[in-house]
Amino acid sequence: MDSDEIPAWPATAAGAGSRREGCSRALKNRPLHRGLAISEPLIIPRAEHGISRRQISDSALKVLYRLNQAGYRGCLVGGGVRDLLLGVQPKDFDVATDASPEEIRELFSNSRLIGRRFRLAHVRFGREIIEVSTFRADMSGDESPDEEDDRRAMDDAGRILRDNVYGSIEEDARRRDFTVNALYYDIADFGIHDYVGGMADIEQRQLRLMGDPETRYREDPVRMLRALRIAAKLDLEIEPATLDPIPRMAGLLADVPAARMFDEVLKALMNPDGPAAFETVYEYGLLDVLFPATGAALKHDSAGLMIIRRAIANTAQRIRDDRPVTPAFLYAAFLWPGVQALAARFQEEGRPPAQALAMAQRDILVEQVQRVSLPKRFAVPMREIWQLQPRFHKQRGKQPARLMSHPRFRAAYDFLLLRAEAGEVDQATADFWTQAQEATDSPAPAPSRPGSAGRRRRRRRRGGQGGGG
Ligand code: ATP
Ligand code: MG
Repeated sequence: MDSDEIPAWPATAAGAGSRREGCSRALKNRPLHRGLAISEPLIIPRAEHGISRRQISDSALKVLYRLNQAGYRGCLVGGGVRDLLLGVQPKDFDVATDASPEEIRELFSNSRLIGRRFRLAHVRFGREIIEVSTFRADMSGDESPDEEDDRRAMDDAGRILRDNVYGSIEEDARRRDFTVNALYYDIADFGIHDYVGGMADIEQRQLRLMGDPETRYREDPVRMLRALRIAAKLDLEIEPATLDPIPRMAGLLADVPAARMFDEVLKALMNPDGPAAFETVYEYGLLDVLFPATGAALKHDSAGLMIIRRAIANTAQRIRDDRPVTPAFLYAAFLWPGVQALAARFQEEGRPPAQALAMAQRDILVEQVQRVSLPKRFAVPMREIWQLQPRFHKQRGKQPARLMSHPRFRAAYDFLLLRAEAGEVDQATADFWTQAQEATDSPAPAPSRPGSAGRRRRRRRRGGQGGGG
């Protein structure tokens, strides 16, 4: 669509107050049908929205300008535009364009194409990667097509049937999930182009799925988790029709590939707003689907719930403090209630405690990774955190020194603290280990063995969750 065909945003006097007024007035006159694309976009010119180029990363700007100079459209879209409009610094910037993947590839020597069915380009600037995707038609939503899909999308010669895949900017807007994620900041005019009523929802701080919510959740159940995550992150109200189906449709998340769920769960919970996201994930029944054994155990394990909440809060705080975090620690907490419950059952059946615990750990993990996978590099340290727990009760002789020199000691100790706060172990046990470390860490006379001082220093540097991993 040509920009001179597009009705401009009504001019209003400059200034934030009148901008908001002008905005609302204009929106009242728009045909805002739920989920139906508005045939002509609403364009909010530069003077009337809050996004300035200063807030956009240099790399993203370079990509946008280069596309524009080559005669293509260059738009920021998705979370970057949404976050900037809501006054939050985005974590990354995604670019959408009418250039084909091959054309993007040609334009940027520092790019490579990824994906097979929906190919997109990664343009690299040092450590920053700008994802550039071609406007896409609605392909019923699956954001991460599997191999099967890939094969279906190829013709006999193995060529991608691109005519079915790529589309206009309007189609690209409509196939996205929430209206606030479908706003385009166009570098050609610095305006926001809105095909779906996203600006009105930004104004009302509302998260609204486009189209019929049940259909859109069936197409891609991950949208349920995305709704809760994005609402928690930005403190948005989830529109009732978008929220209502979630509790009864949460079960569909069981069919999403476990590897994708691993990424999505971390995006939702391992971030500064993880605690708020967790509360809704728990409240709306997603926890029961994503962590079935945990969900079942929490029905009668309040200490377990407290441990999980503290682990998420602790992780969020560490991220804010720029300290390392690891999924191993978070998962140790998440799966712990199920492990405890199953270990108790094995003990009732007559197994010795250590064996019962080991069996429970293995069984829970085997069951869990069907729903949400956990890569080995996290599963191994997670199990070590668990396995060290019984050793905190052995406080005699050389045992403490030996335990403290274990590479996973610090993370296991942090986990012990959570258990103590939740009342699952005596505070005295936690205090013993706190003091034991203070005693070891305090300036000591010359080390009796060469190397022991070095070991102490290393241990101090290891910071809890990040410990040794
Ligand atoms: P974040 O700030 O966490 O990056 P985001 O909305 O940008 O949030 P991304 O996963 O980066 O999330 O996705 C970029 C954009 O792609 C979204 O804003 C949305 O427009 C679209 N999108 C992502 N996932 C889906 C989905 N499951 N269904 C439809 N559109 C999606
Ligand atoms: Mg994003």
